[in-house]
Amino acid sequence: MVRNLKKLLAEAEKKKIAIGHFNIGELEMLKAISHVAQRLDVPVIIGTSEGERDYLGIHHTVDLIKSYNQEHGHRLFLNADHTHSMEKAKAAVDVGYDAVLFDGGKLPLEENIRKTKEIVEYAKAKNKKNLVEGEIGDIGSGSTIRKEIPKGAAIKPEDLTKPEDAKRFVKETGVDLLAPAVGNIHGMFADAPEPALDIERIRAIRKAAGVPLVLHGGSGNTDEDFLAAIDAGVSIIHISTELRVAWRRGIEAGLKKNPEEITPYKVVPEAIEEIEKVVENRLRLFNRL
Ligand SMILES: [Zn+2]
Repeated sequence: MVRNLKKLLAEAEKKKIAIGHFNIGELEMLKAISHVAQRLDVPVIIGTSEGERDYLGIHHTVDLIKSYNQEHGHRLFLNADHTHSMEKAKAAVDVGYDAVLFDGGKLPLEENIRKTKEIVEYAKAKNKKNLVEGEIGDIGSGSTIRKEIPKGAAIKPEDLTKPEDAKRFVKETGVDLLAPAVGNIHGMFADAPEPALDIERIRAIRKAAGVPLVLHGGSGNTDEDFLAAIDAGVSIIHISTELRVAWRRGIEAGLKKNPEEITPYKVVPEAIEEIEKVVENRLRLFNRL
């Protein structure tokens, strides 16, 4: 069992596959992801955003993932997703997250570099195995159902992350992973197709940056786009909104099927089942199974 995320990423890149990153907001999501990871025997990254961390508690989350790994003998890594505050990024490192994303994507490049570098130095001093991800470019925020592209989010070629900025950012900060803006947008669109990914831009950024790329806002993108993005240099793909949609659908179905039921664990299996379907589909695609 490889417990080193960096090595795993190098392996993934060679095999032209990507590691799935799924956010959890509660126990049903973790159960569903863990079931599928075990069934398919693939490593998975569990993400918690700042809001999800506030709700779940960081100590509790770390303990939960540790005990899942011990109990099931599989490979769940834990990532502190989209961390905007320096204090929260450091706190995640302190309690034992495997990776942290310091999100300075909306900051001016200079300030983003300065702050991200501070987190990299902090994390590496604590534990050399900690991975730090940086973000450049605006990919919108929030795993929600959208009616329109969020204000400021980059989808025009001139607004996407530039390879030369990516190169400078990685060189000056020392990040292990980079999240660029390449046509990806957080959330999903209600009635319109997701904007296409700029595959050539991904390839150029990967070459210039020299570190594996992380694709955020994967929900709603096409299978073809995902596979092309992996070929071009994406090693981690984030899926969150699709899980939230499945959770909601499952809870509604569970309540409808058992209208008098008040025992939570008799209602939520429908939600777990719905989430598992999404996770399995995505993991089969990302791991080319
Ligand atoms: Zn994201």
